[in-house]
Amino acid sequence: MDVMRTVLLAGSESTWLREHAVRWRFVRRATKRFMPGERLEDALKAAREVKQLGIATILTRLGENVTVAAEAQTVADHYIAAQEQVRAAGIDAEMSVKLTQLGLDLGVQTCYRHLTRIAEHAATIGKTVWIDMEGSGYTGVTLDLYKRLRAERPNVGVAVQTYLRRTNADLDTLIPIGASIRLVKGAYKEPASIAFPTRAEVDESYFRLGTRLLSEEARKAGVFLGLGTHDSTLIRRFEAHVGEHDVPKDSFEFEMLYGIRREEQQRLAASGYRIRVLISYGEYWFPWYMRRLAERPANVWFVMKNVFGG
Ligand SMILES: Cc1cc2nc3c(=O)[nH]c(=O)nc-3n(C[C@H](O)[C@H](O)[C@H](O)COP(=O)(O)OP(=O)(O)OC[C@H]3O[C@@H](n4cnc5c(N)ncnc54)[C@H](O)[C@@H]3O)c2cc1C
Repeated sequence: MDVMRTVLLAGSESTWLREHAVRWRFVRRATKRFMPGERLEDALKAAREVKQLGIATILTRLGENVTVAAEAQTVADHYIAAQEQVRAAGIDAEMSVKLTQLGLDLGVQTCYRHLTRIAEHAATIGKTVWIDMEGSGYTGVTLDLYKRLRAERPNVGVAVQTYLRRTNADLDTLIPIGASIRLVKGAYKEPASIAFPTRAEVDESYFRLGTRLLSEEARKAGVFLGLGTHDSTLIRRFEAHVGEHDVPKDSFEFEMLYGIRREEQQRLAASGYRIRVLISYGEYWFPWYMRRLAERPANVWFVMKNVFGG
């Protein structure tokens, strides 16, 4: 299991595979399960469909580690135009961005300028902008930029990863500022010196941090929690916890990836919980897709079925 995960995560960083595999037809076909299409229009169409089921959306244009300034500018312009389309379509969709897609590797100031523009525009249409959390080399700077922006405007949220040992300490500074937080287990390959190595520890960290973010102290500070997980055991534990502690249903939401555990998504919506699915689109999907395969090796067999099943 772990070997497979290591191989897939190493593959996600391969430039050769990224350039070649995206052209292989069976790989493109297999991605359909998690991604309605490469165009924003495909994502909006899927957002309209899930809306019928009482499910809101987060949209993300795939891309990371942009090294050309003009490209980062194009990405920021794209998100602003996409927010306009969301407004026009009347869909409850929020954007989620990666800071390295907005030029973080080129300079913190450039990235912050793009991020601010997107958040300012989002405020005009009453939406939140989410910041994805990337590999551990970016954790500190991502949280610094988040806190700087949060001091200026409330409509921004950030993902934090429960596999990182540092996250509990990070909450010490995020809770008092009333942060909007998406809690995820973490999708990158990290050493045991900084990340919990076993699944049980990551899951327990998830529950501990999640309940801390749902506490009265956090809610009073204005914290909003997105529980980004497909883990049924954890979801059941949170359902029990919020019931026992009278946590209002509008102080948190469940968040899942488009196409994964659809019945569970519908069950939560039907039970009166807020739920959003993250819909990805764009041409730069290879590293993201490999991380999805690494999360569940059974997905690799799904790809193989596409190879042999025609
Ligand atoms: C809305 C959202 C936003 C995210 N943002 C980030 C981010 O910013 N940074 C980051 O590092 N990670 C992010 N992730 C990914 C996250 O870190 C995990 O890698 C991913 O959610 C899998 O963990 P899990 O909590 O679902 O639990 P797991 O223990 O991995 O999975 C539990 C069960 O869910 C199902 N499942 C999980 N993943 C898949 C899959 N890919 N295909 C099919 N079934 C699956 C399986 O049945 C599995 O047994 C995000 C996830 C979500 C849902």
